[in-house]
Amino acid sequence: MRVVLLGTGDSPGTPVIGCHCKTCEDARKYGWERKRFSVMIQNDNKVLLIDTSPDMRAQLLHMNVERVDAVIWTHCHYDHFAGFGDFYRVQSNVVVYSSPEVHEDIGRYMEFLKYKPVEIESYEPFDFFGMKVTLVDVNHPPLRRAHGIVVEWNGYKIVISGDTNKDVPQKSKAVMMNPDLFIVEALAPEGYRFRKHMNASEAMLLAKEIGAKKVVLTHLGHFFPPHNIAVKKYPLGHDFQTFSFGEEARLDEFFGP
Ligand SMILES: [Zn+2]
Ligand SMILES: [Zn+2]
Ligand SMILES: [Zn+2]
Repeated sequence: MRVVLLGTGDSPGTPVIGCHCKTCEDARKYGWERKRFSVMIQNDNKVLLIDTSPDMRAQLLHMNVERVDAVIWTHCHYDHFAGFGDFYRVQSNVVVYSSPEVHEDIGRYMEFLKYKPVEIESYEPFDFFGMKVTLVDVNHPPLRRAHGIVVEWNGYKIVISGDTNKDVPQKSKAVMMNPDLFIVEALAPEGYRFRKHMNASEAMLLAKEIGAKKVVLTHLGHFFPPHNIAVKKYPLGHDFQTFSFGEEARLDEFFGP
């Protein structure tokens, strides 16, 4: 199984259009960027996408992905679903899993696209080609519903926080406990405060609380110093970073037995 961070940026991405801060200028100068949020899970030649970022086309082309087997939407924000339209005319009737509320909200934007919405509930695991996938509720005001994702396969556990502030419900934390890999959102370094997101120290605290063995921060804004500097202090993810498990564990991160 491979887990790939297709995009590690926040909603405007980095560099931000029209922004001349140190980080955005560094990104332009040295040719790095943060695409918008999406995580790809590949197992047994099946492709599961967690969210469909507005940068979807470039992300799939970069990874040579020819077919998507299913999508899970975590919540109804533009940076997490808008790229779904990139499947249009390429693949029809893609299966999309989410809670009824998220489907209803995103469905309003997707009226003209054909796909197969499948409603699932938090805390009720479902099988996706041998992987056990569970949605959990997280806290992303003012949205009425937002989800984190827990994926279990062959004794490995991967948890994706989704967009959330630090007030993750206890019931969700119980399901998220002891992951081998925790992909967690952190919009900015410590010192910044947001109503709907975490900063890096809140994210690291949550990682500690659930006993994460490895942590990677994502959904990163230009509030962080340039990547090469900030990565010395925080376990910042980068676009297309890949984590491999089981037999696939021979790429850039090793989780083999
Ligand atoms: Zn900037
Ligand atoms: Zn969001
Ligand atoms: Zn977001």
